[in-house]
Amino acid sequence: MTDAHCHLQNLENFDISDLKYVICAGFDIESSKKAIEIAQKYPSVYATVGIHPETNDELGIMNNELRKLVKKNKVIAIGECGLDSDDPKELELLKLHVDLARECNLPLVIHNRNQDQKILEILGDYHKVMLHCFASDMGFMKECVSRGWYISFGGILTFKKSDYLREVAKAVPDDKLLIETDSPYLSPEPNRGMKNSPINVKIIAQLLAYLRNTSIDQIEEITDKNCQRLFNL
Ligand SMILES: [Zn+2]
Repeated sequence: MTDAHCHLQNLENFDISDLKYVICAGFDIESSKKAIEIAQKYPSVYATVGIHPETNDELGIMNNELRKLVKKNKVIAIGECGLDSDDPKELELLKLHVDLARECNLPLVIHNRNQDQKILEILGDYHKVMLHCFASDMGFMKECVSRGWYISFGGILTFKKSDYLREVAKAVPDDKLLIETDSPYLSPEPNRGMKNSPINVKIIAQLLAYLRNTSIDQIEEITDKNCQRLFNL
């Protein structure tokens, strides 16, 4: 089983012994450094380096730092990065990540809060992309898949109000599906509000198996394989 997106840096302790791959995502320079440290310590953990849209740091400094970090051992993607709004500073920061991903030929891990059109515009034809914690509609999912992008589901899929998202999850092609926890955030039902942990990815896998009328073993097999392919593990 794979947790394709979590923040082990923000967990006091974690049990990842049951997981094949764990992608530990940075969200600023400090957390990206910590992600690399953890990844270098645990064979199943890999790191991403990037800066979340909510930052006050100066672009040039972040760019230089990221360019140093991306060369470290076990860094397999750029992110998480993305958009919470259409603030020009957020757009600039995302563009910086897209340029870096293109240069290094690494996948992008994208955070998207209601900015579907801007994400499509800025990422363009770049095809190595994971949309983390997907929460958009069917039309956007289909557009993303047609560009070769991967769709990753987390705790939001289990929420009561997410009927539309469960319909989307049924329609994602097998070879574009990923599962994640985003722990310690976004605990799935019935643990909502509690601290999340990577092992809860099994709850997501179980729900997907039910929705897609298949077995949890099958979900495990395809999501492990997809993670391996996208991140070149
Ligand atoms: Zn995250």
